[in-house]
Amino acid sequence: MPVRTDEDAETRELRQVAAAVAAERYAPRAAGWDAARTPFPRAERLFLGELGFLGIAQPPEHGGGGAPVRQALVVIEELAKVCRPAAFQVFEANVGPAQAVSRLGSRDQRERYLPAIVRGELTMAVAISEPDAGSAATDLTTRAVRDGKGYRLTGTKRWISNGSEADLYLVYARMSEARGAGGVGALIVRGDAPGISYGAREKLMGFRGIPSADVVFDDVLVREEDVLVGPGQFGELFGCFSVERLGNATMSLALGQAALDASVAYVQERRQFGKPIAEFQAVQLALADMVLQVEAARLLLDRAARGADDGLPDTLEVSIAKCTANEMAKKVTDLAMQVHGGNGYTEEYGLERLHRDAHGWAIAGGTPTIQRVRIVSELLGRKFDQRR
Ligand SMILES: Cc1cc2nc3c(=O)[nH]c(=O)nc-3n(C[C@H](O)[C@H](O)[C@H](O)COP(=O)(O)OP(=O)(O)OC[C@H]3O[C@@H](n4cnc5c(N)ncnc54)[C@H](O)[C@@H]3O)c2cc1C
Repeated sequence: MPVRTDEDAETRELRQVAAAVAAERYAPRAAGWDAARTPFPRAERLFLGELGFLGIAQPPEHGGGGAPVRQALVVIEELAKVCRPAAFQVFEANVGPAQAVSRLGSRDQRERYLPAIVRGELTMAVAISEPDAGSAATDLTTRAVRDGKGYRLTGTKRWISNGSEADLYLVYARMSEARGAGGVGALIVRGDAPGISYGAREKLMGFRGIPSADVVFDDVLVREEDVLVGPGQFGELFGCFSVERLGNATMSLALGQAALDASVAYVQERRQFGKPIAEFQAVQLALADMVLQVEAARLLLDRAARGADDGLPDTLEVSIAKCTANEMAKKVTDLAMQVHGGNGYTEEYGLERLHRDAHGWAIAGGTPTIQRVRIVSELLGRKFDQRR
């Protein structure tokens, strides 16, 4: 089924280029990287930088393309259908923490970090979650204490994607005595700073090729000029995080679309009882269910992403899109495994890899349950205190 699109010619062309790169360069290697849990090679990141993929939505004055976020999402989608570790690089640089630097950073921070990120020489990960602060992110206890011209940072971050592999970390930390979100700011920390260390790499069900590890800060000195935002600006930080969630939803959309595309081909080739299995009504209904869910997710994501063309997206629209896309990807990849029968359960066909990754993208960036809590809060115009 062709990707539905009212995309302009430039975006369509970008989609085609990204799809070709995915098919020619990453399709032959993605399964091997997954099986060996190989971190995405630095040389490949530099290649994506040369293509301009890492700066699509970054400002031209820092080496980027200055295009709307939606163009970066198109590239993320095409790469992610084939190789999530490749797509993750585009994600981090365009909609992840580097995008927060672009929107909230000082001129000096933008000049110091963005051009190198756009070229692929540096990569930045985001470190919010902690052992005791996941869904309750504002319970975080990592602390940045003022010390002369900078801050001393101490605490442990958990589940950090690209943890131990990234050159830079955008670390959410408690910077004042204010409780909850009010005391939280964010600092940029170099991955080789004295006092930083990493836990063992997690053995995740999916996300292989995107290493995950604890990042431990033991009295790490952070210069004043590397404070992205101080306490009291959590709202701005989370506004930027809603752009990251668009990228997350795009990963899920790609997983669902890839599972659907594979299934469309398979059910017409695979024969049982003397005819292609596409001729059995139950198989047709499974395919229809896949289409319904993928298309709904695509439209909701498109609506939310349009909000990022000029400023920040509507956070409710983003939560609806993320929740729908995350749930869709889990269900559609599961259906794809079913219509592939025994082959769906093999590594060879790649469906189980899609399914494993679908579960990971749903948890990352806030679980579907937490998105639902937020959706109902908006719906009823009430804040529900989760602590009482
Ligand atoms: C693959 C992957 C990549 C990740 N990457 C990063 C990263 O790069 N940086 C980073 O900072 N973090 C990252 N995370 C962490 C992620 O953001 C958290 O795992 C997520 O927010 C959930 O937190 P938790 O794991 O502590 O689960 P918990 O918060 O302990 O939740 C456990 C269960 O309880 C439910 N629950 C919790 N609170 C409520 C509530 N109030 N109402 C109803 N249900 C509730 C949850 O929905 C969930 O089902 C990643 C996680 C994964 C799995």
